[in-house]
Amino acid sequence: MTTSRQRVIGMLGGMSWESSAEYYRLANELVRERLGGLHSARVVLASVDFAEVEQLQLESRWDDAARLLAGAAQGLQAAGAELLVLCTNTMHKVADEVQAAVSIPLVHIADVTARAVLRAELSTVGLLGTAFTMEQDFYRDRMSRHGLTVLVPDVTDRAEVHRVIYDELCVGIVREESRQRYREVIERLIGAGAEGIILGCTEIELLVAACDSPVPTFPTTRLHIEAAVDQSFEDWQSVGTN
Ligand code: GLU
Repeated sequence: MTTSRQRVIGMLGGMSWESSAEYYRLANELVRERLGGLHSARVVLASVDFAEVEQLQLESRWDDAARLLAGAAQGLQAAGAELLVLCTNTMHKVADEVQAAVSIPLVHIADVTARAVLRAELSTVGLLGTAFTMEQDFYRDRMSRHGLTVLVPDVTDRAEVHRVIYDELCVGIVREESRQRYREVIERLIGAGAEGIILGCTEIELLVAACDSPVPTFPTTRLHIEAAVDQSFEDWQSVGTN
């Protein structure tokens, strides 16, 4: 039996729980792949009510959202979490405030994703996500800091990509028509110069897979939890530096 010390991953989820369930499943699969046998991930979960968060998003009450998530992150740390995973791209808009509220490291989803794009030796990527993620600066700027050029769909396509996330994927509905719409949006992004496609919303992987895109896709849920699991096995000394 291995003696690897696996640090406790704090998952701040519920945004939506459809993707948080994927985080939990993937974390456990990754630990089982790594350690075998009956090993599973050491996780504490805080799951917020997404209806409350969505209301704050709609009213642009990002400070209130930051306070809500910072409080949940503190609860995770108090419950034993040793690193923090905010299970949504959109709410990384308040990642700095969440990180400032705790002394455990937050694994930033945009940094993890950007590093995966760079490993694939690509520099121009199309971004699919919520309107907040596609239209505001917080996510694209973080990608730009890694030297990447980020393309977003046009206004009509952005509205459709956003609608599918909130009206369908976050409530557990997966439709073939929507998958086809996403494929068309991906084709248009490729036509505009995208060499890869960031699935920049944690529910999109429930709808779109690598086979739906002629160029490489970057599934943020999987990349994020893979990075967190890797980090949970790193030396204690090297954590806290991301
Ligand atoms: N899970 C989604 C994301 O990754 C959208 C839900 C939210 O607004 O947090 O952006």
